[in-house]
Amino acid sequence: MCQNCPQPQGFLAELIDSGLLIDTGVDGLYGRSGLFEEVIARFDDLITRHGGQDGAEIVRFPPAMSRKHFEKSGYLKSFPQLAGTVHSFAGDERAHAQLLHNVADGVDWTDGQISTEVVLTPAACYPLYPVVAKRGPLKTEGALFDLQSYCFRHEPSKDPARMQLFRMREYVRFGTPEQVTEFRATWLDRGQAMMASLGVPLNLDVANDPFFGRAGRMLANNQRDQRLKFELLIPIESEEKPTACLSFNYHQDHFGTTWGIETAAGETAHTACVGFGMERVALALFKHHGYDVERWPASVRNVLWP
Ligand code: ATP
Ligand code: ZN
Ligand code: MG
Repeated sequence: MCQNCPQPQGFLAELIDSGLLIDTGVDGLYGRSGLFEEVIARFDDLITRHGGQDGAEIVRFPPAMSRKHFEKSGYLKSFPQLAGTVHSFAGDERAHAQLLHNVADGVDWTDGQISTEVVLTPAACYPLYPVVAKRGPLKTEGALFDLQSYCFRHEPSKDPARMQLFRMREYVRFGTPEQVTEFRATWLDRGQAMMASLGVPLNLDVANDPFFGRAGRMLANNQRDQRLKFELLIPIESEEKPTACLSFNYHQDHFGTTWGIETAAGETAHTACVGFGMERVALALFKHHGYDVERWPASVRNVLWP
């Protein structure tokens, strides 16, 4: 263990001491215990019990996506600070020797790394849009998908609820503005009822994404004014600044235009997604009900272990 490094404090330290999270020495990058994963799996099931009857098509992507699709998605315009790209060594033997020297000397060895075709997935729905676009126009009833992926965001933090690699479950709806806004309204209700059944304090609020730079501030204000993003907040690391555990996003025609996705009637498709922060919900449960799941309130146990 690093003697000079600051040791984790507060809730993070408790999570590590209890063994639920495993320290890797990197802020926001943790191993998970079996119990932590069990709670995530039970919550995953709970989501399916609330949304499974809608007939969503289940799709699972690995936690990376095509760099070309990522570039086209517009993510770099809005969130360059969060993106994670995969680079790899492609040099000759001499370059390899230099690399090993640099590693041994503790100096930057990444000079010769070249970008690969792969970037890390920033949100579970990003790899989906080009797939749907390729299928051609939507059916009259639109489309609905069930996704789950590890996602990467470069936002290292001592707050255990702000990880660099975390899982996001999502339902994503494609269709007319009416179909898509109805989906979001349904999930705003469902999401609140579902989380209330877990006995944690909740608060719904309008929100904005952390768009980069000065132009980004205008995008953020616009997103708020138009109430395009809602978050279901639960206090985890702080009472004053509760954490977004579920988010409800209406993208209007942003992805439909970017990817050329059309409705059955030939209009540009609208999209919306509801995102569940799997680790955040697990952390909220441990925060509010304690580290011993056997002693969680019976009502909560009955919901998670029916
Ligand atoms: P925040 O405002 O806290 O940064 P966000 O608006 O960036 O959250 P979304 O982009 O809507 O979150 O992502 C969907 C869900 O993924 C969030 O509701 C949250 O539960 C979860 N999530 C987002 N960022 C993280 C993270 N760094 N660590 C763990 N979970 C996260
Ligand atoms: Zn999404
Ligand atoms: Mg964020």
